[in-house]
Amino acid sequence: MDLGLSGKVAVITGGSVGIGLAIAKGLATEGARVVIAARNEERLAAARAEIAAAGGEVVTLIADVATAEGCDKVIATTTEAFGGADILINNAGTGSNETIMEAPDDKWQFYWDLHVMAAVRLARGFVPSMRTRGGGVILNNASICATQPLWYEPIYNVTKSALVMASKTMSTEFIKDGIRVNAVNCGFVLTPDWISTAKQLTADSGGDWQGYIENLAKENAPIGRFASPEEAADFFVFLCSDRASYSVGSTYYVDGGMLKTI
Ligand code: NDP
Repeated sequence: MDLGLSGKVAVITGGSVGIGLAIAKGLATEGARVVIAARNEERLAAARAEIAAAGGEVVTLIADVATAEGCDKVIATTTEAFGGADILINNAGTGSNETIMEAPDDKWQFYWDLHVMAAVRLARGFVPSMRTRGGGVILNNASICATQPLWYEPIYNVTKSALVMASKTMSTEFIKDGIRVNAVNCGFVLTPDWISTAKQLTADSGGDWQGYIENLAKENAPIGRFASPEEAADFFVFLCSDRASYSVGSTYYVDGGMLKTI
């Protein structure tokens, strides 16, 4: 299937590792020119080398998208390199661990800035160039936790839920300009971060991190396993393409059946 993505400019926040890196590689393989923003320089360099070695065109930049300055840098760097963007993937994000009774205000603010304001600020920055280019795509990587919360991360649940609503409202405002906005809610995706968490949690009990991951998947996802980052990324790549031209304002689950509602 030709996805028609050749030459498109795609910005992926948090594209240096995990799902974001798999999306960046997937889009680059389809001929898109990718811009990857993250904070850690080493991981950015590794991602750049991997994509370039496979023949992809890639620009990387250090930016903290949880800040207005970081978002401005993403917009300025992309504009300087390519004159604007066709695709924006708001992917940067991270889990949390707290109780509502104990978490301080600044923790709530941090996650609000990372999961919601980054998407708002980057949309504000890129929509004008998408309009000029005749349309575009914005995908917001939320989480199954936006709908089906995990008890230990209330701030993650709430801010990802807000991102889904931001996505829906953006879609109504932007479709007039041919810009399609959708959200994707993944279930368990086996990223390096999950592996290091599993290793930490099993360190004192024999170190069977694979067993921990397997059990977690079996207990929660009817499919009985985690997704690979590529399995999740392929869905994003499809949604970026004109083959998904009637998909607007939706939230798609890539969760191995984990969502318990219809
Ligand atoms: P990873 O932790 O593997 O990667 C996160 C990426 O985001 C990294 O590139 C990281 O780079 C970057 N990042 C984090 N904070 C910032 C910041 N403030 N500014 C810029 N970049 C940042 O995450 P995953 O691949 O697992 O997850 C990607 C997204 O998917 C997240 O939003 C997550 O909530 C969501 N998700 C993940 C699931 C999973 O099972 N893995 C399930 C459902 C949703 P650096 O640290 O160098 O900045």
